[in-house]
Amino acid sequence: MSLQIARGREAKPPLRSVRPKTDLRPQLKEVITGAAAAAPAKKAALRFPVNPDTRAFYKKFYPGTSTVEWNDWRWQMRTRIRTLDELNRIFRLSADEHDAVARHKGSLPVGITPYYASLMDLKDPSEPLRRTHITTGGEYIRTPGEDNDPLGEDHDTVVPGIVHRYPDRVLFLTTGTCSTYCRYCTRARVVGNPGGEYNFSLKQWEQALGYLEAHTEVRDVLLSGGDPLTIGDDKLDWLLGRLRAIKHIEFLRIGTKIPMVLPQRITKNLVSIFKKYHPLWMSIHVTHPKELTDETTESTARLADAGIPLGSQTVLMKGINDDIAIMRPMMQGLLKRRVRPYYLYQCDPISGSAHFRTTVEKGLEIIEGLRGHTTGYGTPIFAVDAPGGGGKIQIAPDFVVGRDGDDLLLRNFEGGVYRYPDPGGTLGAGKPKRLAAE
Ligand code: SF4
Repeated sequence: MSLQIARGREAKPPLRSVRPKTDLRPQLKEVITGAAAAAPAKKAALRFPVNPDTRAFYKKFYPGTSTVEWNDWRWQMRTRIRTLDELNRIFRLSADEHDAVARHKGSLPVGITPYYASLMDLKDPSEPLRRTHITTGGEYIRTPGEDNDPLGEDHDTVVPGIVHRYPDRVLFLTTGTCSTYCRYCTRARVVGNPGGEYNFSLKQWEQALGYLEAHTEVRDVLLSGGDPLTIGDDKLDWLLGRLRAIKHIEFLRIGTKIPMVLPQRITKNLVSIFKKYHPLWMSIHVTHPKELTDETTESTARLADAGIPLGSQTVLMKGINDDIAIMRPMMQGLLKRRVRPYYLYQCDPISGSAHFRTTVEKGLEIIEGLRGHTTGYGTPIFAVDAPGGGGKIQIAPDFVVGRDGDDLLLRNFEGGVYRYPDPGGTLGAGKPKRLAAE
């Protein structure tokens, strides 16, 4: 697919064409065409837990498949559920799902790894993982305020694949491929384009690297896509090596959903590659506690053992996870797996997303239900990514009740009001007297 995102207006900072300091292109060509890429993975590297429900699923729907094949991430990628026939073979589709899948054209196709399908309810269309991955009629309903590019990423694209919005960091869209396509994807316009899903452009990567080499203010690069972990080991190794060779880049991050939807991708070889490029951080896209299985316990353990600080990102969605009874065990489950809950996002207003979006109050309610009620590390930042390119804006519950003279009045997680001596302060002075007097 192409990530040739159009530049909406003059880019900032200005693009300069700069040759890479070290020309490693021949090495990448070797990597792409070389024998290493085609070499079969060793059986030992494919050992991975299989939870009992998943085992029953694959015995039923993929009879004859060995555990070694099932645990081979390339087999999972090749065997993704992508057609109406395959969906019908495994799921009892509702009429709405059937018609919506049949009607779909363009980017963001259906794509589900067999492993991830094994976590879904095969009969109930309202089951959360299924709802977020099988197309429904709601996607075809447009409501006011929606946009194909709600975050204005195309506008901030300075060379194809590089979104430079914040002063010291960039987003690097490395691929348009995901192992599993989320129906609420902010980049629905560019991921999984038909006919080109497996392509990436070396020229495009070189252009992006040239930009990063020239822009010494960039100290932090977030690799995203698509999902960067769909890229093969050798290419990823090459790309991370090129980025690490740029002296002013201090910090690399990878944004991915793979540890949850294709945990078998976190091979020992992959983590040994990551270990070469520290400091390397990872943001893992997590939707629901159903994703916290034996397999994802293993994938996150491998990453954490490799010294990669792990954070989670979750999109708040109506009827999927907008309930403290779902969010609290999820955050606690993540902590147990050494993943620090990082961001809870209000769902972006992409075209056809009204059926997923809930109110901002609901997000605040979730944060209130976490803050003080469980480990502080278990409370993520709640943010709205401002439409039009305003960036992430944190929204937090207001625990300041008011002011009484030199005392600041604060509300705790149980609703009790407490005084803090704050002489000379003015915070809370504008609050209604009624509250200040409580
Ligand atoms: S994995 Fe990420 S990029 Fe891919 S469809 Fe889901 S949200 Fe979009």
